[in-house]
Amino acid sequence: MTVSSEFVIGIDIGATKIAVTLADTEGRILSKTRIQHGRRPYHDVMPQLQATVAQLLSNESVKPGQIAAYGICAPGILRPEEGILCRTSNLDWRDVPIGPDLQKTLPCPFFMDNDANAGVLAEWLFGDAKGLQDVVYLTLSTGIGGGVIAGGQLLSGRFGSAGELGHIVLDAEGPLCGCNKRGCLEAYCGGHNVALHLQEALRDRPNHPMMRLPDVNGKLENLNFQTLRQGAMAGIPLAVALWDDVCLRLAQGIGICLSMFNPAMLLLGTAAVYAGDFLLDKIRVNLPRFAWREFIEPCDIRIASLGHDIGDYAGAAIALYRLSGHGLNPQPHP
Ligand SMILES: [Zn+2]
Repeated sequence: MTVSSEFVIGIDIGATKIAVTLADTEGRILSKTRIQHGRRPYHDVMPQLQATVAQLLSNESVKPGQIAAYGICAPGILRPEEGILCRTSNLDWRDVPIGPDLQKTLPCPFFMDNDANAGVLAEWLFGDAKGLQDVVYLTLSTGIGGGVIAGGQLLSGRFGSAGELGHIVLDAEGPLCGCNKRGCLEAYCGGHNVALHLQEALRDRPNHPMMRLPDVNGKLENLNFQTLRQGAMAGIPLAVALWDDVCLRLAQGIGICLSMFNPAMLLLGTAAVYAGDFLLDKIRVNLPRFAWREFIEPCDIRIASLGHDIGDYAGAAIALYRLSGHGLNPQPHP
């Protein structure tokens, strides 16, 4: 990798925490830490983030001039060239200039991308997908995000929006999605929609076995993707039926991805990390209904290898990928 400076800083804005990572430009992670943001306002969190970056550099005896770039990733709506997070589902932050604000205390270029693109880059640079030319990553969290490496390049599209795989429509008459279309993959399998569906099915049924699961503890709001999986594993018929439907729709979405991108590897992240083979096995059984054998057999479908630590790699992966000459040029120093 030919860059004049020696290190990058990765910043991953998550639902409950911010992961801050120092890596060298060879892709070695030197140090990492996390900030629990507790959903506090942006103007509270940013000074802490700036101080954390400074501390990380000081701990590793790295000088500010040795930092080649920040890589910033976040779920939600972004304006990447400007380093602005417009909105995200888990934080009450609106149009916050994360990139420019970080530059105030450590002036260097920044690169920004969404969590799913960062996820596929992280798996590609640090995880099981290392060295492969064609990789798809699906993040199964509140919503469903997608990131695609095609022919050794992150697929970006005209406006950087390529790979929105959660909004592939599986049934035009299906349930309403948060994007206002009907029948999106996310409407069937996104964590938020699965939780709503389950809560609706069990409203006013306090004695249902699902409500007695330890992690549900009688509370409707505890019914979510994870407790659905627990219920299905326990053989509770309502949960088994819904889990089977989620797995069928995921197989349908994955089948489309296989036919579109013919990937060597397809990785499932976030909620899939907990579910493991209980999810994968059912997807595999259903896949032949949705894709040719010629697409299924050469594709290694697996759980994201970086698991819940993917945020420690995601921001750094964006910076390393962009610095290596791919995609947009860095912004000028302020
Ligand atoms: Zn949608």
